[in-house]
Amino acid sequence: MITEEKIERPFPDASILLHPNIPKPLHLLNPRTILGVDWWNINRQIAYAKHDYHCYTCGIEKREALYHHWLEAHEMYDINYYTGEVTFIELVALCYCCHNFIHDGRMRNLIRQGKFLMSDYDFIIKRGDKILKVAGFPTKKENYIKIAKENEINYYKHCEWKDWHLVINNINYGQRFKSYEEWNTYFNKADNEPFPPDFIPELDDIGSK
Ligand SMILES: [Zn+2]
Ligand SMILES: [Zn+2]
Repeated sequence: MITEEKIERPFPDASILLHPNIPKPLHLLNPRTILGVDWWNINRQIAYAKHDYHCYTCGIEKREALYHHWLEAHEMYDINYYTGEVTFIELVALCYCCHNFIHDGRMRNLIRQGKFLMSDYDFIIKRGDKILKVAGFPTKKENYIKIAKENEINYYKHCEWKDWHLVINNINYGQRFKSYEEWNTYFNKADNEPFPPDFIPELDDIGSK
């Protein structure tokens, strides 16, 4: 089961939008695949209900949300760029726009594959940056530059590919991809999208599928 939550976030919490990208060695390795579909379904339902079906980031109620009237569960991590340790913290419930804003790399990948509109990408990035600014945070790009400076540009600088590992409930897991070449080969195939299961919406909103 999920551990007791260590973080008490304000609600809404715009800073969730600044959640960093998952380092490449750990792509496709995540609690929902490791802990299984039952764990995922139970705990994401708990996350959706926690703030009465409102997005944790922008505060919108799911029936008012843009594009899709549902919430999606996002896995939050603490990333240590010096040791390569990536620790699962909690699941948060996000609307479609806020979730896609976080996974901007995935959106760009889908645009390349012809599966996502550039105009939607632009709208989602502008919307997220505005939420950040209003809440007193840097934009996504400003924050990226800040992190890059703090970590001397390349987050692979401080540890090797093999050092990256995922920690869930105090248990260590290795990498999904053993090298950059392996990662690159996988994601260059048109049908392989990063993080697809993360985007499964709430079951009762889409019927049986
Ligand atoms: Zn939202
Ligand atoms: Zn996510």
